[in-house]
Amino acid sequence: MPSANIPPENLFPFNSPVQLFYSRWEEVLRIFPALEQGHVTCGEGSSPHFESARGMAVTRLEHGQVSVVLSSKMRSLPLANQDAILRHEIGHLVDMFCPKSYLDSLASERGFVLASTLERRADDIAFWLWGDRIHYDTHEVQTLQPGVSPRPEHLGV
Ligand SMILES: [Zn+2]
Repeated sequence: MPSANIPPENLFPFNSPVQLFYSRWEEVLRIFPALEQGHVTCGEGSSPHFESARGMAVTRLEHGQVSVVLSSKMRSLPLANQDAILRHEIGHLVDMFCPKSYLDSLASERGFVLASTLERRADDIAFWLWGDRIHYDTHEVQTLQPGVSPRPEHLGV
């Protein structure tokens, strides 16, 4: 007989941040089918940004190809951090692919106000899409757990 007391974290179906990214991205593609034409790939890799303790993910646009590069450090983070980091990056992707005025009016029809600056805007788009605010934890990494919101000024907004 399987135990009825399996901790929820052991039941979570995602094995890696990369898989979680693709799952979240597919949710967004169902909301914005037009985005499917943009080619987005995600994988682990390296970036100068990852040398800082809080550097976990970067979105690159090269030759029309968008790639989300994740640090292998992400694997050791709690799921609440992984998910929040990925939602933030996806906020950037949506912002990159959709005209600003289109996003602003669609969000405002639903009662959301998107920040005008790039980083806070990514967090606002994530909040709009998934209904959870992106917070910043004591290490200033994105989290779905309680923390600071909006994104602290000194991180770049
Ligand atoms: Zn960002």
